[in-house]
Amino acid sequence: MGIRIPMGLRGKIISLFFVGFSLMTAVAIALLETNLHQGFNSIECEEAQRQMTQISHNITNELDRLSQINSDWANWDEMYDYLRHPTREFTDRQINAQAMKTVGLKFATILNKQNEIIFSDSANMTSGDSEDPINFIETINRIKQRIEQSDNRSSTNCGLDTSPIGPILVCWQTIHRTDHSGQFNGTLIVGQMLEGVVMNRIHAQSGIAFEIEPITLSDEPARLLYTALDPNTVKFDPNQAALLTAQLRNIVGQAIYSVRLHYSTSVSQRGDAIIWKVIWALLLVTALNGLMLLFGVHYLVIRRLRQLDKELIQIWRNGRWSDRLPLQKNRDELHHLARSINRMLALIRKQFIGLESLAHTDALTQIANRRAFDQRLALEVQQHQRTQSPLTLILIDVDYFKRYNDYYGHPAGDEVLVTIAAILTQVANRPADLAARIGGEEFAIILPNTNLEGAQHVAENIGARLAEYQLRHADSPVADVITLSIGVTQAINRDDPSALIQRADKATYKAKESGRNKVCVLYEI
Ligand code: GH3
Ligand code: MG
Ligand code: MG
Repeated sequence: MGIRIPMGLRGKIISLFFVGFSLMTAVAIALLETNLHQGFNSIECEEAQRQMTQISHNITNELDRLSQINSDWANWDEMYDYLRHPTREFTDRQINAQAMKTVGLKFATILNKQNEIIFSDSANMTSGDSEDPINFIETINRIKQRIEQSDNRSSTNCGLDTSPIGPILVCWQTIHRTDHSGQFNGTLIVGQMLEGVVMNRIHAQSGIAFEIEPITLSDEPARLLYTALDPNTVKFDPNQAALLTAQLRNIVGQAIYSVRLHYSTSVSQRGDAIIWKVIWALLLVTALNGLMLLFGVHYLVIRRLRQLDKELIQIWRNGRWSDRLPLQKNRDELHHLARSINRMLALIRKQFIGLESLAHTDALTQIANRRAFDQRLALEVQQHQRTQSPLTLILIDVDYFKRYNDYYGHPAGDEVLVTIAAILTQVANRPADLAARIGGEEFAIILPNTNLEGAQHVAENIGARLAEYQLRHADSPVADVITLSIGVTQAINRDDPSALIQRADKATYKAKESGRNKVCVLYEI
């Protein structure tokens, strides 16, 4: 029957392992997530910011292109002359809708020295027909505002603006002769829609997916910038993953559009996939480790501990203190434990033997006592019943011993008992014979495999040996030395130990009755 243990060593070690493993996994995941994941994220953010800068460059390029057209037209002798003598002939011929469409301009406006519009026209970009430039009046007014605020009237200015028909790129420049000479006479404004061809070009050049959306004007103060895109407003949208936004400002510095850039998160997705692969690999390796640990702990410790326990229980149940635990070849802690237990077993055996012999020895005479006699007689009777081998019993009683004690004193009586015990062990000299003191001055000898004749011989030997000692007993009515009355009998078939003792007793009683100092043999009742 195995012992039920609520949580054995194996369970504890495995629990400990799993607690440790969970901690390790948690730390690994936290480290991977915080370091690698954030690393991948920042790679993507940097890339997104680079793309936003690229868009800014592309818009600036478009403004530069427009500025170039503006410059070509503004530094033109005929334009300069037109300002001085405005005639429809010049504008109809040179700055007509068809000419604007050819260079991609949506509208062109000429202001005189007083900032008054002296010409303004817009081109339908599909048909090349002239359109009412009413859509750009607001833009023109804002440019006028800029011109009035500006100290340096000769500078070229460009920027982005909003119009009822969409975002528009605008440039304005003072008009001079072709060789850039001449006094300030007026300003040429040109505009180009930030859509269609222009947007396609930006998209094609940058290869970036983005869109431009109008935003409601806020109370935010206007901020004049060289580039339309405000670098201070570039930010990652916290509500929407993979979205970077920035504000575009108009020519008076108000935020009017928002650039929305959708950037790829494939790096962090791939990174996350790698992280999870690593985590799964870690989990798998650790699970395998756990299994190996389980197997190792079971094979190296639990199995051997259980074996030791089983062996110890066997030894304890059967009282086989001479048995030893088997020692394993590998000299580990369990080997040493088994050796220590073996030493304890040897000690227990020694103590046990000592105690047992104490319990079976008569203190005075140092021969077997009544308990040893009873146990041995029971065994021998059983043996006799099984094998029918002869078994005889001799009972010895000292004659007039009370008188001896009274006459010589108790210590002298003890000495006599010791002498008699020594004689008995001498005469009962076969290994299977047992001489015992079974009462005060009563002794017995068990003689296995001995018939009545042999037993009688032994009994008579006792008397003869005792005679040699010549132990004086002055107060004995039968002799002047110590004498013994001895009864001899043999076991018969259905005898139990007490029946055998009773018959031997009877024989002794007969010896007493018939004058003491003799051997009486009783065959049967
Ligand atoms: P009998 O011849 O009829 O056997 O007479 P007995 O005096 O020997 O028998 P009884 O049974 O009357 O007395 C036995 C005596 O043995 C009593 C006691 O003084 C003595 N005796 C018993 N045990 C011891 C012992 O350990 N030491 C000594 N010295 N004497 C003992
Ligand atoms: Mg007696
Ligand atoms: Mg006696």
